[in-house]
Amino acid sequence: MQLKVLTAYERERLGERQPLPEQYVGLSDAEMDERIAHAKATLGRRLVILGHHYQRDEVIRFADYIGDSYKLAQQVGKHPDAEFIVFCGVHFMAESADVLSAPHQQVILPDLAAGCSMSDMAEPEQLETCWFELEQMGVLGGRHAENDAHAVVPVTYINSAAAIKAFCGERGGIVCTSSNAAATLRWAWERGEKVLFLPDQHLGRNTAYKMGVPLEHTVLWYPNDVCGGLAPEDVRRARMILWKGHCSVHTRFTVRQIETLRAHHPGIRIIVHPEVPFDVVQAADESGSTEFIINRVKASPVGSVWGVGTEIHLVNRLAEQVYPERTVHSLDQFGCLCSTMFRVSPNHLLWILEGLVEGKVYNRIVVPDAQKRWTKVALDRMLTVR
Ligand code: SF4
Repeated sequence: MQLKVLTAYERERLGERQPLPEQYVGLSDAEMDERIAHAKATLGRRLVILGHHYQRDEVIRFADYIGDSYKLAQQVGKHPDAEFIVFCGVHFMAESADVLSAPHQQVILPDLAAGCSMSDMAEPEQLETCWFELEQMGVLGGRHAENDAHAVVPVTYINSAAAIKAFCGERGGIVCTSSNAAATLRWAWERGEKVLFLPDQHLGRNTAYKMGVPLEHTVLWYPNDVCGGLAPEDVRRARMILWKGHCSVHTRFTVRQIETLRAHHPGIRIIVHPEVPFDVVQAADESGSTEFIINRVKASPVGSVWGVGTEIHLVNRLAEQVYPERTVHSLDQFGCLCSTMFRVSPNHLLWILEGLVEGKVYNRIVVPDAQKRWTKVALDRMLTVR
């Protein structure tokens, strides 16, 4: 087996990781449930637990708030009493929470190895190089201080490292989520001629197309190639430069799966997350963020049948919640699971909470001060754009 060589960014992210202590391995579900509930009750208002929709049931049942990245980021500022924010999600979400939290609050990710492969597809050095090369191509023009007019406005999906968000914030850019991607692109095009969108090419392409931007007005930037593998004239013509990144979970959905479901369930409505490839969105009936998917299915007429293209924990939970009035199928019969979200186990949650009860903080996420200012600027812009 070939071992993956970690990048400098990945080494930095995993540097402080502490493994799960042995005494937390092999506990029964019942014991974990009881001890987590007890530790949570002991910590009371000193603690708030945020849980992403893609988390497993054994963890999400202890979350005070469940939501997508946008909804959970909004919760951070609403709990000034909480000393500890335990984020049951992945690394970039906990980083955003740290930036949006007050100085007396500590943000904890139960397992530091809970990263996001998409987020890791945009490294700060690659973005620096991209920006430099855009400048060399004569695409940037002008100055890039805050509030200036920009030739290129960088927009990063929230699924990116704090350093990437800081880079965008400092250059008049913004963070977006799948809930406000269209509004964010509108915001960016009001301020600049072109958008550099990273790291998810699919969210960028699907959202822009829905807004009326033809595919030929976009180009794909290959971060490991010189000048993104693009000719300067192609970049100059484009309205949108898409970073070549993707979600390894959502790109498993295919048009074929949609055709199969339609063949077996006449009248079925297909709804997918915009991180899926372009042809899959085109073959579906609707697309939108996780919150959009949940709301659409729940508000649909009794008897509706849905095929849903997003992470399997959300699909299963949705199927249980709307059962038996509506039927929900996963697009992928084997279910697409986000393995990094899955790293946050009840064992990790228990270890973290019992540590806090004893006054010990493990797996704290701290964004370096040098990145905090501009990351916060980019995130604050995100929170104001709907
Ligand atoms: S579902 Fe995809 S984008 Fe979301 S955390 Fe997992 S790998 Fe990252």
